[in-house]
Amino acid sequence: MKNLKPFKKRINIFSPLLPELKDITKELKDTWSTGFVTNNGPKAKELELKLKKFIDVPNITLVTNGTTALIVSLKALDLKGEIITTPFTFAATTFSASWNNLKPVFCDIDYDSMNIDTQKIESLITPKTSAILATHVYGMPCDVEKIKKIADKYSLKVIYDGAHSFNTKIHGKSLSRYGDITIHSFHATKLFSTVEGGGICCKDFKLKERLEMVKNFGNTGIKYEAVGLNGRMSDLHAAVGLLNLRSYSNEVQTREKIFSIYTKNLKKLDGIKVFELPKDVFNSFQYYPIRIIEERFGCSREKIFKTLDKFNVQSRKYFDPLCSDFECYKNLKSAKNLSVAKKVSQEVLCLPLHSKVLPEYAKKICLIIQSLKR
Ligand SMILES: *Cc1c(COP(=O)(O)O)cnc(C)c1O
Repeated sequence: MKNLKPFKKRINIFSPLLPELKDITKELKDTWSTGFVTNNGPKAKELELKLKKFIDVPNITLVTNGTTALIVSLKALDLKGEIITTPFTFAATTFSASWNNLKPVFCDIDYDSMNIDTQKIESLITPKTSAILATHVYGMPCDVEKIKKIADKYSLKVIYDGAHSFNTKIHGKSLSRYGDITIHSFHATKLFSTVEGGGICCKDFKLKERLEMVKNFGNTGIKYEAVGLNGRMSDLHAAVGLLNLRSYSNEVQTREKIFSIYTKNLKKLDGIKVFELPKDVFNSFQYYPIRIIEERFGCSREKIFKTLDKFNVQSRKYFDPLCSDFECYKNLKSAKNLSVAKKVSQEVLCLPLHSKVLPEYAKKICLIIQSLKR
């Protein structure tokens, strides 16, 4: 610790992937001259086609953000009653259920994957259950086969919050092809970004049309069919997306290096659990979560968090608190007995993972953590 000095410039937990400003101007030249700036304009259409190919899904429709993607999805599926979901996710997952008057029923998570525990789903199903809403946390795929089996058995819809799993592949197949719907967020903190934006992937073309109706005020063009909203992506955002899609692979390659430096150096520390995906999964490289098992490491997560901060490194206790601890949910019956989720949320810490983290920075971050080992 003695010879380690704080970073001169703060290392942020996220750093948005941004195109060159002059390239945005170029990309928007036609948009400016035609004045066609939104309502499924040429840029949005182009990005939709490119993304459909890139992440290899039958259908995708673009929206204003990931939260809207979730709200529109649940609405388009016309869900009622209860929805089984995970407490270990971002607030938007659970809130999207509430915005649709659906009651979230929290299911505990699996300790290793940190995703919804499929062993515990069936005991939560009631006659009111209409769907399962699960998150591929940090891009770790949920047990999609088991979830499909349960959903088929009880005729439930399946929606995946894939905000962390953009371009994740499982045995070479796009993870976004599973479930009735998979949503993505293109927020500036996600690897692929349109600044603000999102996408909804689905198998069924009829469902795509319904999603488009809901995101366009519920208007079919002939009548107002459902309580819709304005969820369309503008051509300005789509233009940023088109440019970012070109630099996506470079960013992934850089992150891959940082990712393996963290793993190599932290894996050997007793009491630190690193993030390891199954061999047949292609990583989305959006997060680097570690877990600190205090009894073994000899130093608390809080101390590591604060020490990193002193060294000018921003880390994040993501997700702590659990959604089930929010004021609006904490009194639900299902908000109790989530012991695994509680444990994971108290152990987890996300480290900076982006191309502004140089390899020597990543090594130093590992040294700082190592120096706290007791
Ligand atoms: C980012 C995120 C969202 C919300 O996406 P926005 O584009 O910010 O609205 C939803 N779920 C998860 C798990 C996220 O990480």
